[in-house]
Amino acid sequence: MAAHLVGRRVTDAWTDGLRLREPLSRTAVRSLVGERIEAARRRAKFLLFPLTSGRTLLVHLGMTGNLVFRTGQNAEPTAHDHVLLDLDQGPPLVYTDPRRFGLFKVLTATGLARSKWLRNLGVEPLSDDFDGNFLHTACEGRSRPIKNLLLDGHIVVGVGNIYASEALFGARIRPTTPAGRISRPRMVRLVAEIKAVLQRSIDHGGTTINDYLGSGEGGYFQQELTVYGRAGEGCLVCDKPITNKVLSGRSTFYCTTCQH
Ligand SMILES: [Zn+2]
Repeated sequence: MAAHLVGRRVTDAWTDGLRLREPLSRTAVRSLVGERIEAARRRAKFLLFPLTSGRTLLVHLGMTGNLVFRTGQNAEPTAHDHVLLDLDQGPPLVYTDPRRFGLFKVLTATGLARSKWLRNLGVEPLSDDFDGNFLHTACEGRSRPIKNLLLDGHIVVGVGNIYASEALFGARIRPTTPAGRISRPRMVRLVAEIKAVLQRSIDHGGTTINDYLGSGEGGYFQQELTVYGRAGEGCLVCDKPITNKVLSGRSTFYCTTCQH
């Protein structure tokens, strides 16, 4: 997006106006005409495109959304195209979303600062703000299982279900452990494991195979998982069977011998 969108001016804008996670405003989409896209940023799973006017285009892909250029394998319109932006150079940009759980909003600076979608987000996991001291302090006095706190996004964003299981195994911490009972040194190790597992996954193109359009080569990370999806198979460290337990509605995998 940064390579292809930054510096482009919107010359025409169309929307079918169908409701996404929130109503999709025809007026807001039309108001993009004349705007130039100044930057392309990400915060948690939100894409932010600051515009010349000082407003920001906020996009979330939901479960099945995508931003694609109307070219190549995406040259044909589909029934799931909800926004189309003509640009001053290159093919049009299309927001497509079969299940319509995404967001496509234009916000003023104030609206962005107050946005309910952004204001309660935890720190970015690969930023320097996320370290062992930070996580230890954030979990002080908390009795919820550490895995649930990692997943809920208020302390740290971007640690998905698979990555939480993998990082907790790497740090030898049982996912059910009350977060407030984990020592500072173990939190330091956990943070290092989280950063490492995320970085490895990014290097391998992510864990998702279904619907993945990004670079066309996602999914390789699934072959490297140490505990996730391995219930009943031998632990890679001690060979005892991996346990699967549902925590907060999410499948959680761990070794009862190595993780405590
Ligand atoms: Zn083990």
